[in-house]
Amino acid sequence: MLRSFRTRLLLSYVFIIGVFLVVASLTLAVLWQTVQNRLTYLRLSDLLRPAVVQVQRMRVEQRPLEQAFQVLQEQAEHLQIRFLLLRRDGTILADTAQTLEGRRLPTSLPPEPAQKPIWGRYRVPEEGVLLYAALPVGPPPPAQQDASANLYLAAASPSQRASLVLAEMVRRLLLAGGVAMLLSLIASIWLSRSVLHPLEQAVQATEAIAQGRYEEPLPEEGPEEVRRLAQGFNRMAREVKASRQAQRDFVANVSHELKTPLTSIQGFAQAIMEGAASDPEAQARAVRIIYEEATRMSRLVQDLLELARMDAGQLELRRAPVDVRALVESLAERMRLRADEASLRLTAQVEGAPRVLADGDRLAQVLGNLVDNAIKHTPVGGEVCLSAQQRQTADGPTVEIAVTDTGSGIPPEDLERIFQRFYQVDKSRSGRRAGWGLGLAIARELVEAMGGHIRAESVQGLGSRFTVTLPALEAGRPAAEDL
Ligand code: ADP
Repeated sequence: MLRSFRTRLLLSYVFIIGVFLVVASLTLAVLWQTVQNRLTYLRLSDLLRPAVVQVQRMRVEQRPLEQAFQVLQEQAEHLQIRFLLLRRDGTILADTAQTLEGRRLPTSLPPEPAQKPIWGRYRVPEEGVLLYAALPVGPPPPAQQDASANLYLAAASPSQRASLVLAEMVRRLLLAGGVAMLLSLIASIWLSRSVLHPLEQAVQATEAIAQGRYEEPLPEEGPEEVRRLAQGFNRMAREVKASRQAQRDFVANVSHELKTPLTSIQGFAQAIMEGAASDPEAQARAVRIIYEEATRMSRLVQDLLELARMDAGQLELRRAPVDVRALVESLAERMRLRADEASLRLTAQVEGAPRVLADGDRLAQVLGNLVDNAIKHTPVGGEVCLSAQQRQTADGPTVEIAVTDTGSGIPPEDLERIFQRFYQVDKSRSGRRAGWGLGLAIARELVEAMGGHIRAESVQGLGSRFTVTLPALEAGRPAAEDL
């Protein structure tokens, strides 16, 4: 029961209200006691002054102190207080209530006659706390024993006990607490509903996702935090859906791509087995096709393994300063034969001596792939140009290596997607021997792993340009320092 959010919320309210009630009662009781004591002191002072005057007058008239005290006794009964006659050291000489004679107040009174009454409290074991106000009444007449000492008159009354009023206060505060409790119950129901309802929806949505249903978005409403949770959740659901879809597409693509060469291998192998390809020429052709298809499949498996390694974060890059000019020129040299075979002009243009921190072999692999694509898609008599230059950008110096061709170009609607796995522009036209549609996807992964990016521009009918951008190594820095 304690595990539900609503109960915990309600209990926290109850706790806060309880603590508040206790603190409020104690504070009020202390405050009440202070105010009450002050009022008592004021009242005692007011009653004391005329009594002092009265006693002084009687003493001037040489009337005995006992007589004066007799008069005070009647007044004390009437006013419901008591008068005490004190010596300066606090010893009580007379008490109108006749119980405290001979005892001593804890304080001694000042020697000079004071204008303002002296206030104090005196705890009488059997009667409780007594508050008093005292004023001097002058020395006793010479006939009395203690001629040298000044005498004081004190008006005293018991201190009101806070416990009495506390009981009353607690009763009222409990009533207020009850009302607060009711309101907090309503508030907790309302609050828990506004949080719990979306939470329950989120739980249902999570279960739906676990069952493969991604189409049930959480309503993005309610308090700010709940809204943000719903937004984050919906984004996650979209990403999970996209990732699952990509996974499915990937498997479908791989199976599809493997089906054709496998059927081909199977067909030609069967032909050889059953003797359909009887003459040596037909047999040799069948074996060659089997060999080619197997080679292509092996390349696909290699590409897939490479992508799997990248996805698993197991791609190992050996980064070192790379002389881009040397890289581009040696690549152009290697590809020249293929360009000649395709009757294309292959040129290399490098400005300055740009250097990058990269894995040279992997960079050569990416650029080789781009040049290979350019040669494949450029008609006889066209041109493929490899170029590199250093540029200053907002992110610092970068090196741009571009492969430009005068080929068929790429339709704008495909330009965005050519870096996706298995994406091929117009598959039927390019024919199944053109490739697997993985080359650019691998190129992008590699370039990004090296801290750069790759982009494609194209005008259909005029040609395409693929640009690899990598952060430049500042010129003049020795290679050893970069490592
Ligand atoms: P493939 O193995 O099919 O070449 P890629 O990932 O290398 O796969 O390329 C994806 C698609 O992009 C290709 O099918 C091709 O149609 C298109 N493409 C790539 N480079 C060029 C280019 N230089 N000119 C025209 N189209 C290109």
